[in-house]
Amino acid sequence: MIEIYFTNSLSKKKERFVPLEPGRVKIYNCGVTVYDRCHLGHARGAINFDVLRRFLEAVGYQVTYVKNYTDIDDKMIARAAERKITVAELAKENIALHDRDMASLGIQPPHIAPKATEHLPEIIQMIERLVQGGHAYAAGGDVYFKVRSFAAYGELSGKSIEDLISGHRVALGTEKQDPLDFALWKAKKPGEPFWQSPWGEGRPGWHIECSAMSEKYLGESFDIHAGGSDLIFPHHENEIAQSVCAHHQPFVRYWLHNGMIQIQSQKMSKSLGNFAAIEDLLLVYEPELIRFFILSSQYRASIDFSKEALHKALEGLDRLYTALRSAQENRPQLPPGPAPNELKQKKKQFFAALADDLNTPAALAVLFDLARGLNIASDPATAGRIFGLLQELAQVLGLLEQDPSLWFQRPRIREGKEQGPSAAEIESLIQQRIQARAEKNWAEADRIRDLLRAQGIVIEDQAGKTIWKRK
Ligand SMILES: [Zn+2]
Repeated sequence: MIEIYFTNSLSKKKERFVPLEPGRVKIYNCGVTVYDRCHLGHARGAINFDVLRRFLEAVGYQVTYVKNYTDIDDKMIARAAERKITVAELAKENIALHDRDMASLGIQPPHIAPKATEHLPEIIQMIERLVQGGHAYAAGGDVYFKVRSFAAYGELSGKSIEDLISGHRVALGTEKQDPLDFALWKAKKPGEPFWQSPWGEGRPGWHIECSAMSEKYLGESFDIHAGGSDLIFPHHENEIAQSVCAHHQPFVRYWLHNGMIQIQSQKMSKSLGNFAAIEDLLLVYEPELIRFFILSSQYRASIDFSKEALHKALEGLDRLYTALRSAQENRPQLPPGPAPNELKQKKKQFFAALADDLNTPAALAVLFDLARGLNIASDPATAGRIFGLLQELAQVLGLLEQDPSLWFQRPRIREGKEQGPSAAEIESLIQQRIQARAEKNWAEADRIRDLLRAQGIVIEDQAGKTIWKRK
């Protein structure tokens, strides 16, 4: 099997990937807190790790991919109260929106998508184990994790206990023994959802759900834990502390964190008015364009999202589709294209790029090479081979999944401008033009062509038929 390297956030180094069990990979990705619609940052992580999964499967691994829903926490409770609905209703609504957004973006559903509220027995059992082991204590109906009981605390985030103390000087909670300690269980407050526990009625803290659910579905030790870099501290640091102290063995072998998205060079936030909900973006941009844009950067890099960047991405994606579309239209003979062994080489290059810390920009560069080869392919056999390979490799990235002709007939970016004539109106004008040409009424044929061009529609007469695209 191909040698794979990932940058492990724990060692801060690129490491050779070796799964615990040969041929199998177990992945846990922290999902969203379902109190609101998903935004572009959620899309990025989901797309990056969807490609991770597709790649591992494409090179022959059997993958188990788990991504959870956080359906109980402070934000859930506050938003449900604001909207005068129950936390369960809020969760149901936003889980449906999340699933729809992810499907639009071509993200394969995880093998397992557990919800925190459906895992209370596992969560409570894990907290009990931590209390028994001296790593946690109950205080006034809450239960806290004793951070100083875990010597390796801070290893992932690179924060020392001293750094953390200076940041916490004033934050001593009423019941906490130490300001560094964090909640595993929170006592019920009036009006909040609650569950029975050995410490009274209450609800789980955020961090413990991921430790409990990953253990249930992937075991005490597993291969890859993924998530956004904003989760490294405290969430992932706390997951490590909980899981290692409960099981007394290594938790995760490789930590993969995706970079953040900025919008017009600013952090995405609702208060700045640049919160990009996936639902809103999909009204303007073709889903595959968003995917292509995200994959144009390596997953660890930060990305600056802007209209200009999306327009630039469209030029690239259109170039790939143009090659497919022209090949489909059976272009006339041109100089020779790459020989089959060159194609094998291209395939190797593509997988080598992904095996090098999921370098999607380098993988895309191989697709552009193939598109160039397709454009100059001289015989149908060669063109057919390149065409097939281009689609096969693009599928690993979840790209080029649309019909190439239809791709160009849709407006791929719809930025408030009027959207131009409908496909039916265009087809009807093209029929009128064909009729005019049959009657040798060249002036009328030209008038229709110019009319379409003025509305951003370009037509080409090829091999007895007329094809069209939106500019
Ligand atoms: Zn998590």
